[in-house]
Amino acid sequence: MAIKKYEANGITIEIDLDKCVGAGECVDVCPVEVFELVDDKATAPNVTECTECCLCVDSCPAGAITHSSC
Ligand code: SF4
Ligand code: SF4
Repeated sequence: MAIKKYEANGITIEIDLDKCVGAGECVDVCPVEVFELVDDKATAPNVTECTECCLCVDSCPAGAITHSSC
């Protein structure tokens, strides 16, 4: 697959779909529901809501999330 990039308000979130194992920790941990699982892979359709808390990066067991602020 590939690295999927989401950008808004000067924030960039990249998800490495080859690394993502789809267990959804990022979905559960994000306080503003930035992430959604689609076909067992993470997406970040609501990046405009991001508060830059970095919990998603820390939660991902696969190291699949890169965040410009974290
Ligand atoms: S940095 Fe925080 S608010 Fe932004 S996507 Fe990650 S968990 Fe959600
Ligand atoms: S926490 Fe990481 S491995 Fe799990 S769904 Fe999110 S991006 Fe994928």
